[in-house]
Formats: sequence, structure tokens, C-alpha cells
Amino acid sequence: KKMGVALVGLGYYSSGQLAPALLHTNNCYLAGLVTGTPQKAVDWAKKYNIPQKNIYNYQNFDEIANNPDIDIVYIVLPVSMHKEFTIRAAKAGKHVLCEKPMALNAAECRDMIAACRKANRLLSIGYRLHFEPHTQEVMRLGQKKVMGKVTTIETGNGFTYGGDPNAWRLKKAMAGGGGLMDMGIYAIQGSRYTLGEEPVAVKATQEKTRPDFFKEVDETVFWELKFPGGAKVTGKSSYNNNWGYLHVTTENGNFELDPAFGYGGLDGKINGNPMKIPNIIQQAAQMDDFATCVALNKQSRVPGEEGLKDMRVVDAIYRSLDSGKWENI
Ligand code: NAD
Repeated sequence: KKMGVALVGLGYYSSGQLAPALLHTNNCYLAGLVTGTPQKAVDWAKKYNIPQKNIYNYQNFDEIANNPDIDIVYIVLPVSMHKEFTIRAAKAGKHVLCEKPMALNAAECRDMIAACRKANRLLSIGYRLHFEPHTQEVMRLGQKKVMGKVTTIETGNGFTYGGDPNAWRLKKAMAGGGGLMDMGIYAIQGSRYTLGEEPVAVKATQEKTRPDFFKEVDETVFWELKFPGGAKVTGKSSYNNNWGYLHVTTENGNFELDPAFGYGGLDGKINGNPMKIPNIIQQAAQMDDFATCVALNKQSRVPGEEGLKDMRVVDAIYRSLDSGKWENI
């Protein structure tokens, strides 16, 4: 049986990436919608052939419990709403995919994991790169020490924010933070999956060149992470620079991805030679894998715990920005 997916929040990522990707999935399909905008319900129902009985709003969402067409609820809302809708979905008996960053902080992540466990439902975070072949090659090279031990990682991710100054992404209460939460999370992930280790401490600094625009959230953040194996790992995130790379030096050479974190096609090199790996529709691979996990009642390779690990690092980076000191993770 193909699993039915309901998208919650029909904004940029749902409309531009997830819904189109669901036309290329084999194990799941777009079965339902949850939206606060009646006109979107009408337009999407027509475009994707969704029956009226599978369309909900944020108020009547809990009635999804009685809908056998929906197996998986995919939360694609502003970050401050991830926890509430993950818990409501689990209570309604649905398996949950939740977008990154998982929640406002690590404490919320723990509540989400506990709620899904209690409801005996699977929880997975939208870490599409774990299903992406360039990224999988980087994991293999780094974690299996194919070119010797990793000695340094330099990584950065960001874009120049030119959007609406009133958008939720610029509000601390809704986004939890700025470039670090939205983009830095990939650079943190990249360091963790290259090494296959968990960082133990972090020191961070920040820079604001447009304080009038980034009133509530961070613009550019720089950090250094301490890993148990001793690799020197530096990262940065930004809402004011177009970054997206992962450069790795090992005992016997180097490898890199650039671009490293987007979904418009990644590219990589090993000792300066092109990796020559094909690109795929990351979101289709990610959602198909979760549908298989649901069918087999098997934990995803990117469960809630993976989101929690990143949010523990993010929390420590914000603590370090406040204290000016190294903070334990
Ligand atoms: P968006 O602003 O385009 O969409 C958010 C949706 O939430 C909108 O449809 C909006 O109407 C709805 N919404 C409901 N209540 C709202 C409220 N109170 N305020 C504002 N909007 C409200 O955002 P997006 O870019 O689609 O991001 C949504 C989530 O997806 C975020 O967690 C983001 O980090 C994530 N995302 C992930 C990727 C990825 O590559 N994995 C890419 C883009 C976005």
C-alpha cells in the first residue's frame, strides 16, 4: 500500500518542493492538506486531485485521527509551530515528518520525541541530505576514514535575505533565531555526519551589518566545535552571505562539496577531481524512505533524536554568544 501523506502548511517549501516531489514517489503520495487559507485548499485540491474529506484547517486538524487515508503528517510550518503540530499529529495516531530546524530549542525536541514515543508513532526530521548520494559519499569518506582521519572541516551555509521584513523568519518568537537556526543547522549536521561523532563544546561569535533588518534574530554567526576525535571544525551561518560549502581535510588528502546543502544539485571533489555523482530528487527519496519505515515499523535514519542533537548544538552556540566563552553541549 502507498502511504498517504498530508502536508501541514502550504508555503514555499510545500508548494515548491514537497508537493512536486510527491509526484515522483513510489511508496507514498499526497493524500491530504492542512491549511489556514481557504483559497489554497481550493487551488491545491484541484491541482493535486485531493478529495474534500482529506482537507483540514488548523482548528479541525485533530479530526484527522478518523481519516484512514492519512498515514503520515508532514509539518512544514514556522518553527514555533513544529512542536504543537507534531504532538497533535501523534495524538491523532499519525506518523510524523517534521521540517528542520526541529523546534525552537532542545527542550521542545525532547517533548516531541516523548509524545511520539508515547503514541507509538514514528517521528522523522526533514534531513533530506541523508538520502542524497554526494552526501552519502562524504559520510563514507569521513566516517570510514577512507583517506585517513579527518583533521579539519570548514563549512558555511547562508543566503542573502532579501524578503519581507515582517516575515516569521525574522521574528524570534516564531523562528527561534535567524541564519543559525535556518541555515547553520546544515553546517552543524555536515560536520557531524562527516565525522560520525558528536561535538562536546562550542565557542561562537557573531556579526550584524544590518541591525535594523535583523532586529530580533542573528545575521551571521561563526563557531568552532570541539569533537572527541580532535578534528578542528569551524562553521558559519548567515542571512547576509550566499554560502553553502563543506571542505574537509584528511591525513592523506581532501574532499569537498560545493554546493553542499541545497536541493538544486550538489557537486563535489576528491583531491580536486570531480566526484561525478548524479543528483536525485532528494525530497522524493526522503519521503519514500520514511514511508518504508512506516510500513516496516522501523526507526528512520533521521529520527527525532537527530534533530535534538543539532538543537543541543544550536542552544550551546546561543549560550556561547551570550557568555563569550566555550560552552559544553
Ligand atoms: P513559508 O513561510 O513559505 O511557509 C510557512 C507556511 O505556514 C505558510 O503557508 C503559512 O501560511 C503557514 N502558517 C501558518 N500559521 C502561520 C503563522 N502564524 N505565521 C506564518 N505562517 C504561518 O515557510 P517555508 O519556507 O515553507 O518553511 C516552512 C518550514 O520548512 C520551516 O521549518 C523551514 O525551515 C522548512 N524548510 C525546509 C527546507 C529544506 O530544504 N528542508 C527548505 C525550506 C524550508
